Amino acid sequence: MSTQYDILIIGGGMAGASLAIALSGHGLRTGLVEAAPLKVEQVPNYDDRGIALSLGSRRILSALGVWDAMADQAQPIEHIHVSERGGFGFTHLHAGEEGVPALGQVITARDLGAGLLPALEDKEDLDILAPARVEWVKVEEDHARIGLDRGELRARLLVAADGGNSLVRQQLGFRTRRREYHQSAIIANITPGRPHGNSAWERFTPAGPMALLPMTEGRCALVWTVADEDVGEVLSLSDTDFLAQVQQHFGWRLGRLQRAGRRAAYPLSQLWVPHAVQHRAVVIGNAAHTLHPVAGQGFNLGLRDVAVLAEVILDAARAGNDPGDLENLERYQQWRARDQRGVVEATNLLVRSFSNELLPLKLARNLGVLGLEALPPARHAIARAAMGLQGRLPRLARGLPL
Ligand SMILES: Cc1cc2nc3c(=O)[nH]c(=O)nc-3n(C[C@H](O)[C@H](O)[C@H](O)COP(=O)(O)OP(=O)(O)OC[C@H]3O[C@@H](n4cnc5c(N)ncnc54)[C@H](O)[C@@H]3O)c2cc1C
Repeated sequence: MSTQYDILIIGGGMAGASLAIALSGHGLRTGLVEAAPLKVEQVPNYDDRGIALSLGSRRILSALGVWDAMADQAQPIEHIHVSERGGFGFTHLHAGEEGVPALGQVITARDLGAGLLPALEDKEDLDILAPARVEWVKVEEDHARIGLDRGELRARLLVAADGGNSLVRQQLGFRTRRREYHQSAIIANITPGRPHGNSAWERFTPAGPMALLPMTEGRCALVWTVADEDVGEVLSLSDTDFLAQVQQHFGWRLGRLQRAGRRAAYPLSQLWVPHAVQHRAVVIGNAAHTLHPVAGQGFNLGLRDVAVLAEVILDAARAGNDPGDLENLERYQQWRARDQRGVVEATNLLVRSFSNELLPLKLARNLGVLGLEALPPARHAIARAAMGLQGRLPRLARGLPL
C-alpha cells in the first residue's frame, strides 16, 4: 500500500464512496480513508433512512455503473403532492407533465450503500484504508499531509467527504455558515392501507414538515420534523399511538396507516461552506453543506459535487496539470457555487416560511402554493430544479462517461 497519493478522499459515506468509484480506472493513484470498517452494516449513515434520489442523481449513478445493482430496491416517484394542514393551497408535480418516466427514485441509504461499496473492491488504482481515522491534516505547497491513527500519508489533493462534523474542514479553517433549527427528523418506514401509487407527499403541519415517500413492498418512508423537546416523547410512543399521531397530521389520503418500522431521530441544523476549496484541499457532500431533509436534497447536491469534481480532476490530469492546484480547484468552486447556494437558500426558506403560524404569512404561502398550481412554467422550473437538471450539467449527469 502506498503512502503517496494523487487524490486522497476522507470519508466512505455516500459522497466519498461515489467519488472513489468515479475516479477509479482513470490512472490516478487514489486512496479512500474511512473510520469504520467499509461494510454497509458498519458505516453509520448506511441506515434505514429513505433517500429520495433525483432523476439527475439516478443518471449519475447509472453512468458510474452502480445503478443496476440497486434498481430493484428503488421505487419511482411519479407524482409529488405538496400541501399544508389547515391551509387551502395545494400543488402537484407529475412525471408525465415533465416528459420523464419518473421524477426520482426512493431507496434506503442501506440499499444505496449495498450498491456502492462492492464497486470499490479490487480496483488497481484505488486503495481502501478502513478502518482508519484521520487525526490531523496539514497543507504544504507540493502536497497535503494526512495523519492517520496508523501513520502519515501524502496527497496532491485532499478531498474532505467526512460529513457534517468534518475534522478536515475544521483543521483547515474553512469558513462555515451555520443555522440551528432546534428540530429533529424522525424517520420510520410505514405501511399505509391504500397503495401509494408512486406518489410522494410533502405536508406542512404546525408541528413541522412531514414527508411520506413511496417505497418498495407498498411501504412509505416517513420523515417527520418535530421540535427537539418533543423527540423523546415521539420515540417512546407505542406503535399504535405513533401511527395515530402521524395519521392526525398527515390525514387519510393513504387510508389507515397500518404498520410502522423502527424509528430513529436525527438532530437538524444547516451548515454551508460558501468557498469550499483551498490549495490542495476541497470539501464536498455533507462536509460542505448539511441540509434540513425537508426537500430531500442533501445527497443529491453532494452527488452533483462528486460528478463535477471528478470531471475537473480528470480534465486537469489529462491536460498534464496538477489536480490539487488552486487554479484548477477554483474551476470546481465556480461551477458548483450557484447550485449549492440555490439549494441551501431554498431549503432554508422552505423551513422558515412554513414554520411560522402568523396569519398573513400563512395566507401568503397558501396563495403562493396555489399560484404555483396555476402557473405551469413556475411549476416546471421547480420540477427541473428538484430533478437536479438545472444549470450546466457535468458529463456524468448527462449520462456520458468521464
Ligand atoms: C432523516 C434524513 C433524511 C434524508 N433524506 C434525504 C433524501 O431524501 N435525499 C437526499 O438527497 N438526501 C437526504 N438526506 C441527506 C443524506 O443522508 C446526506 O446528505 C448523506 O448521507 C451525506 O453523505 P456524506 O457522504 O456527505 O456524509 P456522511 O454520510 O456523514 O459520511 C461521512 C463519512 O466520513 C467518515 N469520517 C468522519 N470523520 C472521519 C475521520 N476523521 N477519518 C476517517 N473517516 C471519517 C464517517 O465515518 C462517515 O462514514 C437525508 C438526511 C437525513 C438525516
